[in-house]
Formats: sequence, structure tokens, C-alpha cells
Amino acid sequence: MKKIAVIGAGLTGAAAAATLMEQGYQVTVFDKGRSAGGRMSSKRTEQGYLDMGAQYFTARSEEFKQQVQLWLEAGKAGVWACNTALLCNEDGHSSLKNSTDDQARFIGIPSMQSPLNALLQDIPLITSCRIQKLELSQKRWTLVCETGLSYTDFDAVLLTLPPVQAQQLLKQSRLPELFHDATTLLEPCWAVAMQADASPAGDAIFCQHPKLRFISHQQHKTGRNSCYILHFNAAFSAEHLHKPPEFWFAEARVILSEELKIQQNIEPLVAHRWLYASQNDQVPAPGLITLPDQQLWIGGDWSYGGRVENAYLAGLKLAQAIIHNYKLQQETV
Ligand SMILES: Cc1cc2nc3c(=O)[nH]c(=O)nc-3n(C[C@H](O)[C@H](O)[C@H](O)COP(=O)(O)OP(=O)(O)OC[C@H]3O[C@@H](n4cnc5c(N)ncnc54)[C@H](O)[C@@H]3O)c2cc1C
Repeated sequence: MKKIAVIGAGLTGAAAAATLMEQGYQVTVFDKGRSAGGRMSSKRTEQGYLDMGAQYFTARSEEFKQQVQLWLEAGKAGVWACNTALLCNEDGHSSLKNSTDDQARFIGIPSMQSPLNALLQDIPLITSCRIQKLELSQKRWTLVCETGLSYTDFDAVLLTLPPVQAQQLLKQSRLPELFHDATTLLEPCWAVAMQADASPAGDAIFCQHPKLRFISHQQHKTGRNSCYILHFNAAFSAEHLHKPPEFWFAEARVILSEELKIQQNIEPLVAHRWLYASQNDQVPAPGLITLPDQQLWIGGDWSYGGRVENAYLAGLKLAQAIIHNYKLQQETV
């Protein structure tokens, strides 16, 4: 039985691991975080979850629609009954307009990582384990964790990390640095959760704004703390990347009071910095990066243009590429 190491327990890693497991491979998943989820993580609070990363997902491809249907049937996902709106701010003048579309938007229940956890249910997962080096000897891979522990004897390794982190790991492992320019693919985002008693102007507010790209209100999300989550856009987040949470709380407060006209108490909850959040749409998506001779396979949401659906598709395609490669090897023996 082939033994596969999946590094990264975001949706790409979870989808790849579940597909390989289904086909009889022995899979172990590693993540540097305390739990699985990656950019689909929600933060647990006493009042309920805060979705600090992905707010919802859409399903356009047949493969992902089928998976979403399974999650809906299992109660791991639901439709987000959200009112959408558009916040525009040009030359300092802001306007908030209703905007309707018939796009189905889905959320994990009770948290964004619930569907992903369902995929990983029966798969060994080693958390709090940042892999800092890969070693290949006699066609067997060893993974070295920053704690000093080593995990040995893998036939293949899948890297499902954001490109900068994947490139760092390749470099530390003295492997070829396979990305042409890893730094431009994913852009940063500061995400800020704020409590405000006022009834929300919309659940999903798309922003054409010098600082913001999205505001979400969690009132119609099962299991969540009812509050606002503001996502600052890549340019503003990058410009103030190293500013402390207090800076972001102050920015969020001004936007809620001046642009959404909220006069009641506004209280800060959590500010989280994502260094590698979402795809830079000016840079072409590179697809999967595969080295079948070494059994090293690399992919993520960035392979196909970012977003939750593309992470799922990347995981599926990575697993299919590995399975196909082993079938070819068997046929030529
Ligand atoms: C603020 C924000 C808002 C978003 N909003 C949406 C949205 O509304 N809709 C949508 O479709 N998408 C959205 N996205 C994008 C979506 O979250 C991602 O496309 C998707 O979750 C990426 O999954 P992934 O598995 O490819 O990567 P990730 O989720 O980043 O998983 C990579 C994993 O690798 C781990 N890792 C990194 N380095 C190491 C190492 N050396 N050793 C071990 N583990 C390591 C990380 O801890 C992480 O868990 C948003 C993202 C952010 C950040």
C-alpha cells in the first residue's frame, strides 16, 4: 500500500487526502496550525464562531456541486440566506445600494471548517507540526517537523501550501524552487470582527472602496456570533501590513459609523492578518506543479484562480494525478 504525506490541512489537502484514502492509499496529513482549516478557519468564541477567512463558497463545477450536495445532506453545510448590497466610495462620497443576484452561496455548519473536517474524519492528522525540511533518499521521503520530530518512509509528498510557504520549504530542502515568482500569486488581507447592535445593512456587502473589499454580517449564519466581519482590500492591507490590531479596529469603527451609519455601541472583537489570502487576478494561475519522478506534487487554490471551489478542485486533481501515475507505473512493470 502506497504511503502518502499531505502537507497542509486546508481544503486542498483535505480533498486530496480523502480522494486518495478512498482509493486505498495510506495517507497522513500534516499542518502547522492547531487544527485543520487553513483559510477556511473560523475562530471559536463563547458567543459562537467568527468566520475570519472565507465567508462563503459557490459551486459551479459538476465535481464541486456533487461534493456540496453531500455536505448539505450530512448537515455539514447550508445555504447562506444573505441579502447582498454594494458599498461604493468614490472621492470620499459613499453610497450603499441593494444588489440582488441569484447566486447560491454556501457556508459550513456550524463553522467554515466543518465540511473540511468531514473530509478528514477518518484520516490521521498531525497538527502543530510545521514541516521545515523534506529529504528524499532511495525513493522514500522523510518529513522533518520544526519540533525536531521526523516522519519517514513516504512514497509521495503533496504540498498544498500557499506558494511563498511552498517555495520556502523547497529551498530549505535544497530542492529546485519550482515557482517562477511565488510572491505575486496570493495577496494579503486584514480581517476584523466588530460587534454592533444595529440591524445590519446587508449580510454580504461587496465593496468598491479605497480600503475595503467585503463586509459580512453573520446574523443569518447558523452557529455564528452575530457581528460584522470586515475584509480590507489587498492594497490597503499591504500598505499597513505591520500595523497592530488597534489600528485595524479604529479603521473598522470609522467605516461602520461613517459609511454604514451605525450610531450604537461598536466594540472590537478580533483582528487577524492573512499574509496569503486571495488570488491576485493580474497574475495567471499556474496550475499544478508535478514532479512524478520524485513523487512530489504541488497545488492549491492558487493553481486554478483562488477561492474555496478551486482549492477543492486542486485537491481532487492532485489525487487523480498521483493515482494515474501509479497506474501507469503498474502497466509498465
Ligand atoms: C480573508 C479571506 C477571505 C476569503 N473569502 C473567500 C470567500 O468568501 N469565498 C471563497 O470561495 N474563498 C475565499 N477565500 C479563499 C479561500 O479561503 C481559499 O481559496 C481556500 O481556503 C484555500 O485552501 P487551500 O487548502 O488551498 O490553502 P490553505 O487553506 O491556505 O491551506 C494551507 C495549509 O497549509 C498549512 N501550512 C503552511 N505551511 C506549512 C508547513 N510548512 N507545514 C505544515 N503546514 C503548513 C497552513 O497552516 C494551512 O492550513 C478567502 C480567504 C481569505 C484569507
